[in-house]
Amino acid sequence: MLLITNYEGRCGVQKSVELLMNKVDAIRAIIEGIKLVEVNPEIHTVGANSLPNLLGQLELDSAVMDGNTRRSGAVGALKGFKHPVEIAYRVMTDIEHEILVGSGAERFAEEIGAERYVNEMEHTQTAWREYLDSTLNEEQKQKFPDIRLLDIKTKPKDPENLFDTTVYLAQDYTGRIATATSTSGWPWKYPGRLGDSPIIGAGSYADSRYGACACTHTGEMTIRAGTARSVVLYLKMGLNLSDAVYEAVKDLADLKTGFINAVTVHAIDNKGNYKVVGLNPNKEVKYLVWHPELKEPQVKDAEIIRT
Ligand code: ASP
Repeated sequence: MLLITNYEGRCGVQKSVELLMNKVDAIRAIIEGIKLVEVNPEIHTVGANSLPNLLGQLELDSAVMDGNTRRSGAVGALKGFKHPVEIAYRVMTDIEHEILVGSGAERFAEEIGAERYVNEMEHTQTAWREYLDSTLNEEQKQKFPDIRLLDIKTKPKDPENLFDTTVYLAQDYTGRIATATSTSGWPWKYPGRLGDSPIIGAGSYADSRYGACACTHTGEMTIRAGTARSVVLYLKMGLNLSDAVYEAVKDLADLKTGFINAVTVHAIDNKGNYKVVGLNPNKEVKYLVWHPELKEPQVKDAEIIRT
């Protein structure tokens, strides 16, 4: 058994560990951990309490993947529900599609009886208003929101320098490997923007025969490099876990155009190894690991690669 999560996922780790120890399957164990992250008021980049898009709305993304069946489920740009990760799971189990977005995802969530929630909170709305106030010119302020959002002269960014998805990767006692992600994407993102978190193959991928990978930070890059799938494919082609991750990181580092920023790659193989590498981060990168030989989940520092 093995569990790794990024640091943003720390409040749900104990729950997932308990479930894994009680022989709950990897996919349900990580979903229950992520649900705690989605409602944690201190986490401003996953679920409720997150910083919103340019229009002040929270559009949430999530994906799950079962490495035994290679079925996945994902939701993107989902508004008004408490647990995107549970809805992503139900996409996997209840419908013959892999991704639902926007109003279709919300209709599906309603039909399965998912819990509604007002994810926009007073403090995050205040942060958004302050952002607009410091960014828009007088004319834009008067006409907002009927302005060309494209004219807003900043890139999506994280005012707390914390931007992060939560990613969980686990192998249960049967050898099943699973991944799950949940995020609000980037603060002040253009409405409708999907990052890598709901894109299987970019932000996450699980295959019980080889291993799994999940990424955080710049989804614009991992989508283009197909990073999560690449790591698992490099494992399949015979590379060890470290080399598989280094190869995928090299693919990211070779991107020259577009939005280039930091990426963290989290990976496990089916033999109990784990590897986390931060490419060009602007601060230290931490993650958590648990396996049965450890009494408690441990916080570790990722290996950093700078180019
Ligand atoms: N990867 C996420 C996205 O691009 C954001 C993050 O992890 O910080 O939406």
